[in-house]
Amino acid sequence: MDETRSAELVEFCRNLIRARSYSGQEAEAAAVLADEMRALGYDEVVVDRYGSVIGTINGNRPGPTVLFDGHIDTVPAENAEKWTYPPFEARIADDRIYGRGTSDMKGADAAFTKAVAWFAADRDRDFAGKICVAGVVQEECFEGVASRSVSSITKPDYVIIGESSRCNLKIGQRGRAEIKIETHGVPAHSANPEMGVNAVYTMCDVIGRVRELVPTEHPVLGKGILELVDIKSEPYPGASVVPESCSATYDRRLLTGETPASVLAPVSKALEELGEDDPALSATAHFTRAQETCYTGETISAERFFPGWLFDRDADWVQAIKAKLDEKGFFPEITQYNFCTNGSHYAGEAGIRTIGLGPSREDLAHTVDEYIEISELAKAAECYYGVLEALLLG
Ligand SMILES: [Zn+2]
Repeated sequence: MDETRSAELVEFCRNLIRARSYSGQEAEAAAVLADEMRALGYDEVVVDRYGSVIGTINGNRPGPTVLFDGHIDTVPAENAEKWTYPPFEARIADDRIYGRGTSDMKGADAAFTKAVAWFAADRDRDFAGKICVAGVVQEECFEGVASRSVSSITKPDYVIIGESSRCNLKIGQRGRAEIKIETHGVPAHSANPEMGVNAVYTMCDVIGRVRELVPTEHPVLGKGILELVDIKSEPYPGASVVPESCSATYDRRLLTGETPASVLAPVSKALEELGEDDPALSATAHFTRAQETCYTGETISAERFFPGWLFDRDADWVQAIKAKLDEKGFFPEITQYNFCTNGSHYAGEAGIRTIGLGPSREDLAHTVDEYIEISELAKAAECYYGVLEALLLG
């Protein structure tokens, strides 16, 4: 990439970082992205009901639609005083840009927004198909939910997820679900506990039994881990009262092919078996549901069940991308993401061919002093350019 393009990419990335965009507050970052797409000559730029920005560039003849998906929301940077450089100033030091969202994932957003425009301009749109770029809101709380709207608008044949992969290719990930177990007791004064039923003691039995469940397993993705992440009793705080209810939240990592019913069944069975031993036991399990307001005023809500996905590393389209990136001297490895992405929707729910490819390291996400190396940013843009050559110049 020439120096002019490299410098433009760095400046655009810095502008995105300066536009603070916690989930539900992405308006300014969305405007920066939409303005850039218009300046770069995208054919169409629209904002959907949740506030995600979708830009499109058409080739001069029909062909597949390639969608680049990157979220534009970030997790908060609450402890700004702990940062060496302020989190929203996008300072450059040691060939790095520092700031919240540099690695997760405005660097990738900047890189593919530019790469797509350069690819189209360099060949005067002489390619088969259509390229869409989506800057998606609300990913940090709802992996894949805002993407459902993006995919219904763009109808992609291929999706590139720009989450950090150190510019390697990711062909899958475990998904994620959140299960809440609730136990119900009978309140009483704690001076006379025998008058009540303590919902926390019931929960202790439940937790012990659930812990004995054997996790599902996949040869590539690993275990369908079920881990207790919080517990809460009511009333709280409980001054001199036997708690009447207790809830425990579990994080469940999802393998391919797992459904809400198949995931909940062993937990429900464990509760039933406990109920057979103790007819007074009252316990239920369900997936949690969350709801947030988008900056557009629209409500986004979903059951927390985001499926896993995995493609065959030998699939022709995966190998075509790999071959093109090898030819350019990048030699990416083909592995899986260790975390959950918008791919849960595209691949897990909709079955669309999806691959992950993004600059920087995943362990920089959500950290104090989050940064991206400028060299990685440029490399990602070149890789995205190569993906388009592989998929649209055939
Ligand atoms: Zn991310």
